[in-house]
Amino acid sequence: MSKMRAVQVSGPKGPFEVVERDVPAPGAGSVRLRVEACGICHSDSFTKEGLFPGLEYPRVPGHEVAGVIDAVGADVTSWRTGDRVGIGWYGGHCGACGPCRRGDFVTCQGGARITGITHDGGYADYMIAPAVALARVPRGLSAVDAAPLMCAGITTYNSLRNSGARPGDLVAVLGLGGLGHVGVQFSAKMGFETVAIARGKEKEQLAQKLGAHHYIDSESGDPAAELLKLGGARVVLATVTSGKAMSAVLGGLGVDGKLVVLGAAEPFEVSPVPLIGGRRSIVGWPSGTSIDSEETLSFSALTGVRAMTELFPLERAAEAYERMMSGKARFRVVIKTGP
Ligand SMILES: [Zn+2]
Ligand SMILES: [Zn+2]
Repeated sequence: MSKMRAVQVSGPKGPFEVVERDVPAPGAGSVRLRVEACGICHSDSFTKEGLFPGLEYPRVPGHEVAGVIDAVGADVTSWRTGDRVGIGWYGGHCGACGPCRRGDFVTCQGGARITGITHDGGYADYMIAPAVALARVPRGLSAVDAAPLMCAGITTYNSLRNSGARPGDLVAVLGLGGLGHVGVQFSAKMGFETVAIARGKEKEQLAQKLGAHHYIDSESGDPAAELLKLGGARVVLATVTSGKAMSAVLGGLGVDGKLVVLGAAEPFEVSPVPLIGGRRSIVGWPSGTSIDSEETLSFSALTGVRAMTELFPLERAAEAYERMMSGKARFRVVIKTGP
């Protein structure tokens, strides 16, 4: 049997181990992917740190995967060997719980499958993926381009397009990291008057390059007051992992404004009165299913939205992960597998 490399975690807070494994065979309803690229997401820390309930080890993390199907299991009719595909956080659903019976698969409550959490992900030469979770990668989008769009991309794209904001509305993206730098591009390409909010004057040029119409340096003043000067935001897309930073922009929402929370931050304070008076709201958004991923990729191919990436080879996954966690990466760290 042929062998492959995989980078696994053997227990909570354990190190990343580069191990040799047998190349797995796909079961019914699944395909085998030859992984070409896998982005590193902050949520990989669920696997690394043992923060996800019921997590079983050893586990291979990675839910920003792009590759090529090289084997197809029984009962898979819509995918063929050689198809270029991506796979993200959504890794399948139970089909029997309330949300599933309403067709809302991403909120499955009855045993949702999550790539790199409930089954092995993309820090490897090959992975097994349920066919239901696959997204087609359009021509013109490389694996390295597609991979970070499978979580950072879909999460910002899908939350923005479902936020209720309409072309011309004021939309602010809080944070210019892995998610934020893609979110600003999507927001501008969707036709929103786009505000980037980040720390420090020096990020202004980058924000403009990404398509932002306005830049707010949250260190030099009150970001909420600055948003109000622009008319108040219809949507603030909160991509940071700081609850304080989210609190600080709440006052910048206009009437019917919505804070869309994407970053898994610590608890933060909310003043109820402005929520009531202006029908303002705070909501979360959980990426999406495979068709949402596919549409994220198509929109990106069409409009030129791309993540800016730092590449690492598979065997340096530990270093790549540390780079992402340091917050210094510009802006998404991607493991490139294979030749
Ligand atoms: Zn993610
Ligand atoms: Zn379900």
